[in-house]
Amino acid sequence: MKKDIRKISTAELSTWMDGIGEKAFRTKQIEDWLWNKWVKSFEEMANLSKDLRQKLDAEFEIRTLEIATRQKSNDGTVKAAFRLFDKNIVEGVLIPANDRMTACISSQVGCSLTCKFCATGYMDRKRNLEASEIFDQAKAIDLIAKSEYELPLTNIVMMGMGEPLLNYANVLDGINKIISPQGMGWSPKRITLSTAGIAKMIKKLADDDVKFNLALSLHAANDEKRNQIMPINESNTLAVLKESLRYFYQKTKNQITFEYIAFQGFNDGKSDALELANFTKSIGAPIKINIIEYNPIEEADYVNTSIDNLEEFKSILEKKGIIVNVRRSRGKDIDAACGQLANKQKPSLSEN
Ligand code: SAH
Repeated sequence: MKKDIRKISTAELSTWMDGIGEKAFRTKQIEDWLWNKWVKSFEEMANLSKDLRQKLDAEFEIRTLEIATRQKSNDGTVKAAFRLFDKNIVEGVLIPANDRMTACISSQVGCSLTCKFCATGYMDRKRNLEASEIFDQAKAIDLIAKSEYELPLTNIVMMGMGEPLLNYANVLDGINKIISPQGMGWSPKRITLSTAGIAKMIKKLADDDVKFNLALSLHAANDEKRNQIMPINESNTLAVLKESLRYFYQKTKNQITFEYIAFQGFNDGKSDALELANFTKSIGAPIKINIIEYNPIEEADYVNTSIDNLEEFKSILEKKGIIVNVRRSRGKDIDAACGQLANKQKPSLSEN
């Protein structure tokens, strides 16, 4: 089997090029074709000799994502199912809004975390995505934004399938390619990584001095409740998470957002709001809480809190000086909303 050329490092490619007597600047040209120009074959690398293109083709392959299906929601959200080189499928979503075009991308095929309210959590984790597969989702959704809305992407969130911090190296490499001028040339400030909370890896993000934003899927600010809905909390308790978030903020000063689904009769009471305020304020960082609407999934029977209760919950947090955004869900009719990504295609809505 040929080697995936985007899986080897620049240094390895340089060594190989040197071995066949090619000059160093050619490596840079090849990488520019692979990432920035995003070509699908060596044939297209017009500034390389035919001989070099043939040698590259004999040794390497360029793995590409295919769009298996594409569905558009009544609210304009577009979900793409991407077929990977090994036929596995992951999903990515384009969420258009007045002032932004956001891509939501995946980090793993399936997920190992079994959060009780998340459809992906009921699938097995099949494998980690490669850095190139993470990059390619961003590129592909950028093209979808341009073709559907004549606008480029403005934001990228790693909130699709999988737990990004359990695929740490590839996720960071993928994001770095999105940021790199040789890739998409993005500002890291427009990228957010969302995690269910792997404390050790949150600290590693700080040590690696990342420049992108962090979101933490909290959903309960009480260990007993959080254990019930997010089993990862048993080994990454709130106290441990708190310490890692404090560390992250002190080192990076990057924005931290908390995500919270208010489930009716479970974590939507006054005492829950007070616990949430206490926990988030104890991080010692500017706090932002996004209250996400619960998107019902087949596998569980949670219910979203009522509109009235949500208002009360929100005002308790606001009285504590916390910025709260209520996030309406998008793309629910095509299973494209948070927590609904589980490779289900509705044939009637499918475009191809
Ligand atoms: N594993 C990462 C990223 C994927 S989930 C994480 O846990 O953060 C992206 C967001 O959607 C998370 O906040 C997650 O908790 C939330 N989510 C999962 N299932 C949901 C559902 N059914 N309704 C609304 N949000 C959900």
